[in-house]
Amino acid sequence: MTAQIIDGKEFAGAVRARVFKAATEFKQRHGVPIGLTVVLVGDDPASEIYVRLKVADAKEVGIESRDIKLPATATQSEVLDVVRKLNQDPAVHGILVQFPVPAHIRQEAILDTLAPDKDVDGLTTLSAGRLASGRPGLVSCTPQGCLMLIKSVRPKLDGLSAVVIGRSQLVGKPMAQLLLQENCTVTIAHSKTRDLAAVVRTADVLVAAVGRSEMVKGDWVKPGAIVIDVGMNRVDQPNGKSKLFGDVAYNEVLPHAGAITKVPGGVGPMTRACLLRNTVLAACAQMGVSPPAEL
Ligand code: NAP
Repeated sequence: MTAQIIDGKEFAGAVRARVFKAATEFKQRHGVPIGLTVVLVGDDPASEIYVRLKVADAKEVGIESRDIKLPATATQSEVLDVVRKLNQDPAVHGILVQFPVPAHIRQEAILDTLAPDKDVDGLTTLSAGRLASGRPGLVSCTPQGCLMLIKSVRPKLDGLSAVVIGRSQLVGKPMAQLLLQENCTVTIAHSKTRDLAAVVRTADVLVAAVGRSEMVKGDWVKPGAIVIDVGMNRVDQPNGKSKLFGDVAYNEVLPHAGAITKVPGGVGPMTRACLLRNTVLAACAQMGVSPPAEL
């Protein structure tokens, strides 16, 4: 048996097409475009690239996007002032502050200031609480994208055993909440979990969000399981270049799994697409209209 490959790039393309349609219809209906603002503090080169990509992604699907760049010397209160202004600006439906921020600024202070209804990263405490309480709200992009990929191969997850490796606010915890809402029996594993291999072997659905290259081995995976690899681990190669690896030993797991994502080309493109989708959801909620059902 060889696993079905879940093509995240192709699926993300379909999400973007739906976002484009929704953003176009929004503009026609309300006379204003959907707006996304990305805030970057400092000059970390990787963050600059991420911000540029996010702004370009949004423009491509008809979302009015811009970035606000603040110097690394900006004080916490200056950053919070910018966030407060964006909270009040009706043309801005989604706000994203690129993390990490310089060490003298508290990430929590930013998240506690950001309006949850504009929190397109789904990272504020209220967004996390809404998800945990089963209330409508904006959900962190990576786990949302993972769930869409899982459901693309298995629309009904009732009663399945799901294991999430990792308990970060960004991925592991919201992923577990989403799978619980889908009626899975969910186990969250982490660095203190005993006999991780045995825990993973119980999973019909496995999401690995660890940050350790190829940690999940072939014989850890239950035959036929759906395996979602969130990991993005850059590993130096003997030729002096570096290569991207997931948290799952892909070649070993391929013969065991029922379906599997690749790295790259799996979860990554879905994270980007779900940010755009969240921006549309935020804009519709702020206008008091339902988002298109197919979104
Ligand atoms: P994180 O905040 O560092 O969390 C990692 C989690 O893995 C922690 O909960 C940690 O447990 C657990 N862990 C570490 N070593 C472990 C071990 N040996 N056994 C079991 N669990 C272990 O990372 P993250 O932000 O969730 O990201 C995880 C990975 O996904 C990273 O590679 C990241 O680059 C990638 N990522 C990819 C995307 C994408 O779009 N593709 C998006 C976000 C993240 P403790 O809590 O006990 O420390």
